[in-house]
Amino acid sequence: MPYNFEVEKGEKVKKYDLLVVGAGLFGLTISQRAAEEGYSTLVIDKRSHIGGNAYSYFDRETGIEIHKYGAHLFHTKNEKVWKYVNRFSSFTNYRHHVFTLHEGRIYPMPINLGTINQYYSAAMSPKEAEKLVESKTEGAAKDAKNLEERAIALIGRDLYEAFIRDYTCKQWQTDPRDLPASIFTRLPIRFNYESSYFSDPYQGQPKEGFCSLFGAMIKDPKIEVRLECDYFEDPSLPKDLPTVYTGPIDRYFGYRYGVLGWRTIDFKEKRYDLRSFQGCSVLNKSDMTDPSTRSIEFKAFNPERKEVFESEKTVVWDEYSRFAGKEDEPYYPIGTQKDKEILSNYEALEKGEKNVIFGGRLGEYAYYNMDQTIASALDTFENKVLCMLRSGK
Ligand code: FAD
Ligand code: UDP
Repeated sequence: MPYNFEVEKGEKVKKYDLLVVGAGLFGLTISQRAAEEGYSTLVIDKRSHIGGNAYSYFDRETGIEIHKYGAHLFHTKNEKVWKYVNRFSSFTNYRHHVFTLHEGRIYPMPINLGTINQYYSAAMSPKEAEKLVESKTEGAAKDAKNLEERAIALIGRDLYEAFIRDYTCKQWQTDPRDLPASIFTRLPIRFNYESSYFSDPYQGQPKEGFCSLFGAMIKDPKIEVRLECDYFEDPSLPKDLPTVYTGPIDRYFGYRYGVLGWRTIDFKEKRYDLRSFQGCSVLNKSDMTDPSTRSIEFKAFNPERKEVFESEKTVVWDEYSRFAGKEDEPYYPIGTQKDKEILSNYEALEKGEKNVIFGGRLGEYAYYNMDQTIASALDTFENKVLCMLRSGK
């Protein structure tokens, strides 16, 4: 059953020190810290649930935890963030492994020595593989400015064309030469057989599900949550209050300098009377012949939930990526040169908003993972929100 945070939260307060727009991880972290410092907060969200894009629910038919806006895996290098989230939930010891389908064969992803040897039908040592890859880099500069150049510099043209080029085109609907190199830097390249997707020391999924974690963060009665409440459409909102805004920055300023580019995802659900459909949680599709980017088999994120994991029922979502229109859920900031120019115009306007602090993925137009979102919110709270609250502005 979906976690019911309304019941847990208890008594509500009516007078607020702070308005938080958006009950995603950024907004929840700000609200939690404000309550801890003695401030009462009204947190609103236009959706019908808390948790933003990291929201999940338990499917009634199968008991499987489904991540409504795409698979979310918690991982971090940041000890402060790890300690912070562990205050609200325990975590499983899940380690993420991804595979990718290329021309009818399955390879481990991210690219590691296993992928390289399988691709070249070889048994190279780490040094031999490095040498071979180096010979395929066409002298590309390691400080290359776009995704394609960076990828060729790191893994060579063969592996780039097999595993990266088409996947990236499908995922971003943008020429990899127009994408920032930083997107590719998210993915490790390994000249050993380590196949874990993330290299971070702290990893795992919230034991009782993501919503249990979110509910625990806002349990304090000094926090009131109002759902299905759009900041721009509800005239009853106290707009003179100090505000943390985590919605889209271009929307806040009425799109006056243009619309920032986002990518959204459509999900196609399939249900099978099988214990396992694909044998792993995430199967990427690296060829253009399959329009889907990847398939997610949700139960595989929680092998510790034995009854659900071993049942003969499974749910798989195929992901299809496309440009987001104004009405779509904005998922991934694209960040082309034009986007950067538009963003800098909005950031200049932001400085004139003395009573509003912008934050989060949408408010900063930043490709944040959950841990980065929390780190940024903790930092914003200490360095900006507290000052705003103390000065009573
Ligand atoms: P959001 O979660 O987007 O929350 C913002 C909230 O503001 C939303 O709920 C929205 O409804 C609300 N809002 C917007 N406008 C208004 C308005 N006008 N009025 C009221 N409310 C409003 N991170 C990881 O660490 N690991 C992963 O595996 C991972 N996978 C991801 C997969 C996908 C498909 C996506 C899209 C993201 C993934 N992330 C992952 C990133 C993660 O989702 C974000 O870091 C995190 O959710 C950002 O939190 P946020 O509060 O900044 O934004
Ligand atoms: N990528 C790819 N092939 C893959 C996996 C990733 O080309 O099989 C590229 C793609 O450009 C993607 C980037 O690497 O956007 C970062 O991958 P990551 O898994 O971090 O993306 P996420 O979906 O988590 O944002």
